[in-house]
Amino acid sequence: MDQKAYSTPEFEAEYTYYGSDLGALRSPERTFFRLWAPTAEKAAVRLYESGDFGKDDLIEEINMAKDVCGTWVAEKPCDLGGVYYTFCVTIDGKEREAADPYAKAVGANGKRSMVIDLSSTDPEGWEKDKGVFFGKRVTDAVLYEMHVRDISSDGSSGIEHKGKFLGVSETGTETKSGNATGLDHIKELGVTHIHFLPSYDYGSVDETKPDGSEYNWGYDPVNFSVPEGSYSTDAKNGAVRIREMKEMIKSLHENGIGAVLDVVYNHVYHVDEFCFNVLVPGYFSRTDENGNYSAGSGCGNDTASERNMVRKYIVDSVKYWADEYHIDGFRFDLSGLLDIATINEVIVEVHESHPNAIVYLEGWDMPTAVTKPGIELAHMFNSEKMPGAAFFSDTFRDILRGKETEEKGFCAGAKGKKHAFDRCFMGMPFWCKTPVQSINYASCHDGYTLFDKIALSCPEYDFETRVRINNLAAATYILSQGVPFMQAGEEMLRSKKHPDGSFEHNSYNCSDFVNGIKWDDLHIPEYRKTFEYYKGLIRFRKAHGVLRMQSAEDVYSHVTIMDIDDENLAAYHLWGNVNGETSEAVFVVFNASNEEKTVELPVGKWGICIDGEKAGDEIFGYAEGEYVLPPFSAAVMIK
Ligand code: CA
Repeated sequence: MDQKAYSTPEFEAEYTYYGSDLGALRSPERTFFRLWAPTAEKAAVRLYESGDFGKDDLIEEINMAKDVCGTWVAEKPCDLGGVYYTFCVTIDGKEREAADPYAKAVGANGKRSMVIDLSSTDPEGWEKDKGVFFGKRVTDAVLYEMHVRDISSDGSSGIEHKGKFLGVSETGTETKSGNATGLDHIKELGVTHIHFLPSYDYGSVDETKPDGSEYNWGYDPVNFSVPEGSYSTDAKNGAVRIREMKEMIKSLHENGIGAVLDVVYNHVYHVDEFCFNVLVPGYFSRTDENGNYSAGSGCGNDTASERNMVRKYIVDSVKYWADEYHIDGFRFDLSGLLDIATINEVIVEVHESHPNAIVYLEGWDMPTAVTKPGIELAHMFNSEKMPGAAFFSDTFRDILRGKETEEKGFCAGAKGKKHAFDRCFMGMPFWCKTPVQSINYASCHDGYTLFDKIALSCPEYDFETRVRINNLAAATYILSQGVPFMQAGEEMLRSKKHPDGSFEHNSYNCSDFVNGIKWDDLHIPEYRKTFEYYKGLIRFRKAHGVLRMQSAEDVYSHVTIMDIDDENLAAYHLWGNVNGETSEAVFVVFNASNEEKTVELPVGKWGICIDGEKAGDEIFGYAEGEYVLPPFSAAVMIK
């Protein structure tokens, strides 16, 4: 069938299925299968002994009957929980076998699905588990982006379950010299959510090799609604990864931390091997006029989210993660390839049962061959059309640290950036009209770590000065309006170095040596001090509602940008009884130069909570009239 036909109104009128019973549903008395495969001539369910793809252990093949809206159904009068299965369709006389697109459990490497009794995977007390962000709003969040392996893989972590979901939730772990590691460290830092790099089942790590010799970030989806097997202690048993991921999330919740998933619906690992595309040839992915797969993502194929059954699939999958795994937020990878209606529907559906779930998007504007007319894409320049979503501000990132490798950012003394910096501090870079939509950050998994970027752009500065620049950068985005976000380890000067000492900017398939967090660094005084500084910045942010305003009106009425004729000195006077603020006013100043600078203070006596050395929510000194800032430093005072 010509793939263009999939996007016609006629096809959609005839073949859109709205039910909620796709996949395999079991009870003690029966197991029911429903598959959407409108182009199939025949369809069957194949039951297998094991999840090992290719193994000759077929139990039974059950023919499916044609049902409504392009779906096929089959039923067995027994509980098939624990049994592996695939769907097999015949199209143009040829058999095509694949895993269930709606699979909730799979065998190793995800080529066979498994019927699962989900309640059997619930840890004790799961029914009482709930998110920890209740009653809070997106600007109250402090986000910490982490790969499951990185937190535990280094020997210094003291964590037993290295590279596993269970390693994330270990508490009481520490380095040899007694610095807390892992979850205890993250709690101490004070972030509100851990944002996990892809943790659904991806394809680039062989799950039958549990030694952790293969590493990948995981931006290569295979099963969108199943956890990744290499993070479990037994990838071959489809139930284990589900239980262990739930245990991890429960433990995070018990420790006051929410879980955000990085979801990558914009492309798949192998476009022709992806189960949905096997069963309904090419339906999931966009093709251009020449019939080639559209590849704006650079990953070989873009998802046709504008098609009804793809949109439904994405919405159902996200909602399932929120409901079944109690996920507290979603970060959409390359959302500019998806359409606005899909994102908005996800937000409405998830918020129905999880009103505090946060949604933010990597909203780069990218070319793609959309298959229907009039479709608008979910990139950052359409932010006004997705009021429930926030967007990564690469604008802020590039201003504060510099875009090109050797280019200095505002925080390292670059001139000509102050005006744009002011807008970022207000939480409203040029593409954004409200602070609830700006995710502010200095580093994420993509690109150099913040400290490596400073080293590369500031070769003339010594180690101590680079640390000062790092901490100034942290102060700028953590104290700005909007939502602060950091890559794990930034708070302890994380570096991604090869054995030869060179820096890595794209560590997606590098070893644990490059990617693992080096907990022993906390022995070094400057590293420990940086950690304390980040802790203090977060504590101050949490203590002052005036830094976390919810609307542009509030920001414009309660923040004055100080008029200072100096490209390297930026200051802000935040005042008034707004958003639960307890002090009369807050004064924030950044000296982004290698010289001492004197700033005139607004009238009154100011209590200093943050300077270039220390940060926290308590006053440790007073200033009146004027204040002298050391080179590359922030100062924050309250009245
Ligand atoms: Ca996998």
